[in-house]
Amino acid sequence: MILDVPTASDFQNHGARFLNLAWDVVVRHAKSMDDFEHFGDTEDFEEDFWRAAVDDVGLALALAHTGVDHLLKAGIASVSPFLLISSTPREWPRGCDKDDIPFAEFRTVDSQDLVRTYNAVAPQRLPDAFLQQHDKLRRVRNRLIHTVDHRLTPAVKDLVLAVLVSTHYLAGSGSWIAMRRKGLEASPIATLFPDSGPLPTLNQELRHVVGWLGAKELKLYVGIDKKRRLYSCPRCLEECERDMQEHFEGVAQLTPGGPGARFLHCVACGEQSEVARQRCSSEGCKGNVRDPSGEVCLTCNC
Ligand SMILES: [Zn+2]
Ligand SMILES: [Zn+2]
Repeated sequence: MILDVPTASDFQNHGARFLNLAWDVVVRHAKSMDDFEHFGDTEDFEEDFWRAAVDDVGLALALAHTGVDHLLKAGIASVSPFLLISSTPREWPRGCDKDDIPFAEFRTVDSQDLVRTYNAVAPQRLPDAFLQQHDKLRRVRNRLIHTVDHRLTPAVKDLVLAVLVSTHYLAGSGSWIAMRRKGLEASPIATLFPDSGPLPTLNQELRHVVGWLGAKELKLYVGIDKKRRLYSCPRCLEECERDMQEHFEGVAQLTPGGPGARFLHCVACGEQSEVARQRCSSEGCKGNVRDPSGEVCLTCNC
């Protein structure tokens, strides 16, 4: 018999790790550049910055591609992991009919055949939106790994979108936010701050994603309406260290919207919170959405 046969959730967990690593690299760089832009004109620095980041971004794209391969394998393995064995019985490891052999010793489906295999066996075929994004990720990865190309800013958006689109179609709508939250919780940096959770970082990353994506992509893959105001979510704000709260920027939106709306939905923590509608008295703040106790303005956090 075949030993150590991987399950769909093994592949999904591995995929999430690769995607988290890729996301870490690219989002960290893009956040640094975005934050630096707040200090003024960055045109002189931007080209040098991205030129220095070219290898990191290329490797991150390769990691993301491997991550998506694992999610495709998860989908195939959910039908049967044995569909991933690509060779005929004649080509299987020597002695496999006499001894138990680990699955890892069998030749498995090549990366370029995974989409074809998935579409042949999965109950639902992957849509064009996935196929186009997957092909684009491969082309951008090849371009950056095999050539010297300094047009990197679009590559950052390509990677962010590839992660969001792939997880949306292969692991379910909104699944990336849950994978990212777990990834941040499991990160070595989290062990240095045992009292704070992943939500403040996740909110910060999603605020950058709001700036990078168009309205249609943002609504479909993240669940945020770009045309509507973003508020701090009381639960996420609570997880933020007190002296950092004034800088906290949330990703919660009123649901269903409008002046009488009394609930905020937050895509970072997934919670819906009741809010109080009262004007903020802080100078310059036009907010009128406060936490349930009415103590904190969810626009300026004061
Ligand atoms: Zn929240
Ligand atoms: Zn306020």
